[in-house]
Amino acid sequence: MSTLFSFAPAYEHNLIGHPEHAGRGKAVMDLLTSQQVLADLALVDPVMATPEQVRRAHAQNVIERAQQISLRGGGQIDADTYATDASYDLAMVAAGATTNAALAVANGEHTNGYVFVRPPGHHAEYSRSMGFCLFNNIAVAAKEVQAKTNCKRLMIVDIDVHHGNGTQDIFYGDDSVLFISTHQFGSFFYPGTGAAHELGQDAASGFNFNVPIVAGVGDAGYLSIMDQLIAPAAQKFKPDMILISAGFDAHWQDPLASMELSLTGYAQLAQKLVSIAQETCEGRILFVQEGGYMLDVLSHAVLNCLNGLLGNDKIVDPFGLSPVKGSPDLVKMIKELQVLHLLK
Ligand SMILES: [Zn+2]
Repeated sequence: MSTLFSFAPAYEHNLIGHPEHAGRGKAVMDLLTSQQVLADLALVDPVMATPEQVRRAHAQNVIERAQQISLRGGGQIDADTYATDASYDLAMVAAGATTNAALAVANGEHTNGYVFVRPPGHHAEYSRSMGFCLFNNIAVAAKEVQAKTNCKRLMIVDIDVHHGNGTQDIFYGDDSVLFISTHQFGSFFYPGTGAAHELGQDAASGFNFNVPIVAGVGDAGYLSIMDQLIAPAAQKFKPDMILISAGFDAHWQDPLASMELSLTGYAQLAQKLVSIAQETCEGRILFVQEGGYMLDVLSHAVLNCLNGLLGNDKIVDPFGLSPVKGSPDLVKMIKELQVLHLLK
């Protein structure tokens, strides 16, 4: 039993005033150090991806554009997405660290793992970087695992509060990957995609599973989605390995969204995902960092996920439950999605 941890904080990918800044990595490392959890983990140094690996998930123009902007000294890739002179190399490290960790778990060198990487990846589509994301780290890793290991059927679960439009785009016609995304959905909420009827293309119809939820859902709602949608979908799909887009911006204190999840709720979700992996694919699961912009929430959420991966049920939650009482009723939505995805 060993839990891999790879840390690629990309300190030189930074823009003052931007929510996705280099202080995120420092906050995480400071807490993991003070809580003395690092000694329990198998620390794996990040490595750079090769352009060939990134090309499994992206068009060449995505790689070239990031490279050109970094060579020019930095700039905006789109209105939300910045690059510095170091960002191209650091995005290659984020994709490489994720890929290396995924291969190690797929090959059984480690039981499971967590990669803290920046810049994040799940908004990056096949042909464009967007939404703070340069390359889609989890998609690059998934493609490489399928190409190089015996893990062919992959389930990707995206618990970031934003829809994983990039991951959806890359695997939309691929029935070897079950992509499930839970996300805030409604008028003007970024990125705007992620409706329930976006099911996948042709033979892959049904392998794209969106769980669009209204603002205000908290721990109980998220846990019922896990028990009544994600767990049965995993039992039906029978993955060889599970990859998690781990974003913590659904926490009630996060500035970018309006969900009411607590750190305890997030930790319980992580524990359940670890259990699902144990039941379906001998425990092979890798968490990959996406969003999470309230620094103390982010760092504690990473700590709790690591404890879950280590099989330790300790949960650290200095913020407690959301002060908002009452949560939207999800019974009807869950029933409709069970029917749509043939889970009942
Ligand atoms: Zn997000």
